[in-house]
Amino acid sequence: MADQFTLPPLPYADNALAPVISAQTIGFHYGKHHKTYVDNLNKLVPGTEFEGRKLEDIVSATAGKPDKAGFFNNAAQVWNHTFYWNCLKAKGGGAPTGDLAAKIDAAFGGFDSFKKEFLNAALTQFGSGWAWLVADGGALKIAKTGNAEVPFTKGQKPLLTIDVWEHAYYLDYQNRRADYVNALIGGLLNWDFAAENLAQA
Ligand code: MN
Repeated sequence: MADQFTLPPLPYADNALAPVISAQTIGFHYGKHHKTYVDNLNKLVPGTEFEGRKLEDIVSATAGKPDKAGFFNNAAQVWNHTFYWNCLKAKGGGAPTGDLAAKIDAAFGGFDSFKKEFLNAALTQFGSGWAWLVADGGALKIAKTGNAEVPFTKGQKPLLTIDVWEHAYYLDYQNRRADYVNALIGGLLNWDFAAENLAQA
């Protein structure tokens, strides 16, 4: 039987984000970690109620259910990583424009304040997890989640994320999570992708 889920292609070459994120990190993070979540999900799903279901549906149906943790962790991590790769691009960074910029100003009092709060969320997520910019009831908020947790199971629409699992930065930055996060904010965030997500919120 064909695998239900496939590893989506990276939206750029594995060295496109260097030197902020090295090709070596992409090789492990995309080629091993992300792929393993896809492979694990493909082993878990056949013969279960989740056969033939969409990835997002499996994430939503299993969130907060300890007896379904294997499904949730792998499905959510497939979703999170695919989303994360799209949140980055070569020569990204800069500042958002248009409606997104206006909503960031309204929510955080300006782009500089947003960057401080986003960095703070990424640094204060204890252990593995994710920092997020989300749309929540018409307003923008910053969120952080542990391990595989994803905001859309709580009704928040993800606009951008930064992976703060150590595997995302340890080869390039060792323990310096702040340097990794600041480098992404400064040079890789894909604000066009965030604006597309906001338009769908
Ligand atoms: Mn990761």
